[in-house]
Amino acid sequence: MNMKLQQVTTTCPYCGTGCSLNLVVTDGVITGTAPFYRSPVNEGKLCPKGTYAWQFINNRDRLTRPLIRKGDVFIESSFEDAYALIAEQFSFFRPDEIAVLSSARCTNEENYLMMKFARGVLRTRHIDHCARLCHASTITGLSLCFGNGAMTNSIPDIAESGCILCLGSNTFEQHPLVGRRIMQAQQKGAKFIYADPRYTPTARQADLYIQFYSGGDVAILNCLMGEIIRNDLEDREFITTRTREYEKLRKVVLQRRYEPESIEKLTGVPANQLVTAARWFGEADTATVLYSMGVTQNTVGVDNVKSVANLIMLTGNIGKPGSGVNALRGQNNVQGACDMGCLPNVFPGYRKVTDGRVHKIVSDYWDFSEPICEPRVGYEITTMFRVLLERPWELKCMYLMGENPLVSEPDLNSVEDAIQNLEFLVVQDIFFTETCQYADVVLPAACYAEKNGTQTNTERRVQRIRKAQNPPGQAKPDWKIICELAAVMGYKKQFSYPSEKEIFEEISVLTPQYSGITWERTGRPAGVHWPCPSADHPGTPILHHDRFDTSDGLGVFHAVEYKPPHELPDESYPFLFTTGRIIWHWHTGTMTRRSKNLTDEVNKAYIELNVEDARNLAIRDGEPVRITSRQGELVCPVRVVRDIMKGVTFMPFHFAECAANRLTTDAGNQVGKIPEYKVCAVRIEKVRGN
Ligand code: SF4
Repeated sequence: MNMKLQQVTTTCPYCGTGCSLNLVVTDGVITGTAPFYRSPVNEGKLCPKGTYAWQFINNRDRLTRPLIRKGDVFIESSFEDAYALIAEQFSFFRPDEIAVLSSARCTNEENYLMMKFARGVLRTRHIDHCARLCHASTITGLSLCFGNGAMTNSIPDIAESGCILCLGSNTFEQHPLVGRRIMQAQQKGAKFIYADPRYTPTARQADLYIQFYSGGDVAILNCLMGEIIRNDLEDREFITTRTREYEKLRKVVLQRRYEPESIEKLTGVPANQLVTAARWFGEADTATVLYSMGVTQNTVGVDNVKSVANLIMLTGNIGKPGSGVNALRGQNNVQGACDMGCLPNVFPGYRKVTDGRVHKIVSDYWDFSEPICEPRVGYEITTMFRVLLERPWELKCMYLMGENPLVSEPDLNSVEDAIQNLEFLVVQDIFFTETCQYADVVLPAACYAEKNGTQTNTERRVQRIRKAQNPPGQAKPDWKIICELAAVMGYKKQFSYPSEKEIFEEISVLTPQYSGITWERTGRPAGVHWPCPSADHPGTPILHHDRFDTSDGLGVFHAVEYKPPHELPDESYPFLFTTGRIIWHWHTGTMTRRSKNLTDEVNKAYIELNVEDARNLAIRDGEPVRITSRQGELVCPVRVVRDIMKGVTFMPFHFAECAANRLTTDAGNQVGKIPEYKVCAVRIEKVRGN
């Protein structure tokens, strides 16, 4: 019998690196992955998650039919019945009583349609997604300094840098194919400085490793800038011609409290390491900062981002190859979901919802018979759950696509209480997640390999995903579900798209950064970097070449002082608890924990404890311990390691049955509203009987 073998080129569904890969299809069923060499992002290489990104697709747990709650059980149903019920229920609520969560895992087309559905059909202003939980501080902080919140340079460009400072990003585990570019830069002579509380695989690769407590970023960065200025290593011409507010920065960073000896006392980082880092960064012809959630997931996340931007402008390292602020975005399409306006304050292309002119442009183009949502900023995801908990009469209904807040939100015990206050919840996903347990209706969606679309990676590269097999059972692409539901609710005209291509064409019209990007161009191996203003424009891999996106074209220094994190260890909770990803798993584990090769590596929660701390507590490697924070408690085994600072603990957040977010605090950054996942205080005790 002849087997039909095909390879379908697509984009990895996991991290924001956006590696291309080939899905191997045997007789219509995906059976493996193979390299796709023509992508400039990963040049045929994949990390373990990408290599095994096919294994969860045909897992028997996939949702195949809509489910409708009847009392305590779910009954399998048809899409027609599910749509009728949802349409009826949605009609009972006022627009402000409904919240929508879009998804950084879904395509640009799906996020765009979810945003249009929320603002046009439900007429609610409350739409957000998980970008709030990872890089809201980046968007806010970089917008204030540069007028644009995106990564400034491209991934291949990192290999051109002469000095790389990496902060709060375990790049070699979390964005492995970006880590490869760091190694390529080192092979060409670059210095690699890594600052993090854990001696991670990334630290092992560093030329200089700076170990410090989470939350000390501003102190360290101010110290480096002070040293650069004292040693005349600042770029005076760049500062004079391209920036403003420099004197305010200078005054702050030259204070005695930021001198290396003072910072050594504050953070424990040896002064000579700070002096070396400042010299390497200041003397390099080109230097770049890479950072991730260790920087953003703090109450001072926006200040951290502003400090990074200050360092880059101080040394004139922007707008040229090998330079820039390179914020590594988490999910595959978190950049795209933000670009599509799935945030409570902006329409597509980051145009403010409060701008009456933009509101009219969007509203006229959509042509709904009734006015769309009010021109007011809506609730962020963290605010949604707080309102649900404290004022449930204000928020009563939620429509959620491809998000699993019952694992991903901070202070999970409160979120669990909050979600039960909803009067009606619709969840659309590929598996029956922890959040589905609280739903009234669950809709089965197609996964990345069962639909077409575009997604935008961390470096603003818009590229294609392609359908390689049919979805299981009745499952459908999210965009189709949204269109069909909108039609049932009376909005067929506004949601009539023959295919994903026509949705993308509408995106190009309403998203200025995408205006020159066509569906055909996104299908090329290199995709297209936004901004791309016209069809003959090549796209923009490097931002801010000769002007910033601020109103006067100048970069703005923001002098920031060090502030300690919201919650530091004390007598009752003596350990600093921090969370993160490991190379084998992705976020809430919905996909990776159904991939055999990945679960064979690690499939259980654990907490890392310094060897000296373990000795003091008489805890042995592998023993279970009780971890208690002000938010909750967990029991899980200990990994005794030398790689983490004394007094600090680390726990991966992928394991729902032992979810690290039962302990984390929802203390939010006042400006970006991002929770402080990276720092909270805990107590660790031996479990009685051990
Ligand atoms: Fe996928 Fe990220 Fe790994 Fe690339 S680096 S294969 S995008 S998980």
